Amino acid sequence: MSTLEKPVVERPAGDECWCCGTPARPGVHLGNHPEVVVCLRCARWLGKQAAAVEDRARSGPAVATRNALRAVRGQVVRHGWHQHPAVGRPLRWLGRWLP
Ligand SMILES: [Zn+2]
Repeated sequence: MSTLEKPVVERPAGDECWCCGTPARPGVHLGNHPEVVVCLRCARWLGKQAAAVEDRARSGPAVATRNALRAVRGQVVRHGWHQHPAVGRPLRWLGRWLP
């Protein structure tokens, strides 16, 4: 490929989420790139990731609490407890409200 050719980017067709590929109806479109849509689940995940990045430049008890909760979330996901038949659903519900 010459340096003048643009790389081929595979774009999801229609209203598929650009993150996970599932149908993104309803979805969130990027402001400057309305052709890019992500599903609500991925949009929430992106919001949590953005908040974690913002917290890297902050300090204080609230940040420490959020980081501790993020660490707990990481343990839950690593162990797969969020998919456990008995406790998975409450954990996923709780995860929506925690950082
Ligand atoms: Zn998605």
